[in-house]
Amino acid sequence: MFELPGLPHLQAGTLFCIGRNYVDHAKELNNPVPSQPLVFLKSRNTLVFPSPEAEILLPPQSSDVHHEVEFVFAIGEAIHHASEQEAFNAIAGIAIGIDCTARDLQSKAKEKGHPWTLAKGFHTFAPIGEFITLPSLGIQSSEGLSQLTMSCTVNGEQRQHGSISDMIFSPTSLIQYVSTICPLVPGDVLFTGTPAGVAKLQAGDTIQATLHDSSSSISLDVVHAPEGG
Ligand code: ZN
Repeated sequence: MFELPGLPHLQAGTLFCIGRNYVDHAKELNNPVPSQPLVFLKSRNTLVFPSPEAEILLPPQSSDVHHEVEFVFAIGEAIHHASEQEAFNAIAGIAIGIDCTARDLQSKAKEKGHPWTLAKGFHTFAPIGEFITLPSLGIQSSEGLSQLTMSCTVNGEQRQHGSISDMIFSPTSLIQYVSTICPLVPGDVLFTGTPAGVAKLQAGDTIQATLHDSSSSISLDVVHAPEGG
């Protein structure tokens, strides 16, 4: 049920997520640029995998659900207090993902100093595409990741575009950092933050998120969550 698309030998574990990893996005939400990674978690039960029926459900508790397109990494080896090289070697694959966020609930949580769990944690709030191994993208080193780009369109119009080279903390430094907090195990997943352009999703929208040369992509219809569902 939680087999990662493209990596069927791995079952999704913990979803680690990074906030404010692009200067332009931190600024658009009037947040300070962090001096160390801002880490939060999502339940793996929020995952949505590619399928013709893939949907993002807008929950009745929010009237302002935003898309955040992100590079997503799957961990393939157990690591703890990893070096950056060990962090790179532990990457099983990369995919495109969307960190859906109930911005109104997140803003209230921020004001009160409460966790972001509910704002980030509704059903269908973590769509991801198929994972691609780094060698199949011709990437042999951490530096090679910086060439990768991603984009997100809503109803065919581009909303977000980003590059790994624009990140404040590189993917390997994030994996290394998280591994100093908590051991990582095969199947754990890391969302690495979103660039500028986050915006509200409306029922009836179609959102498409794409990695680089379309090696990983996902398309979803946005609908209201069924009552009582
Ligand atoms: Zn995010």
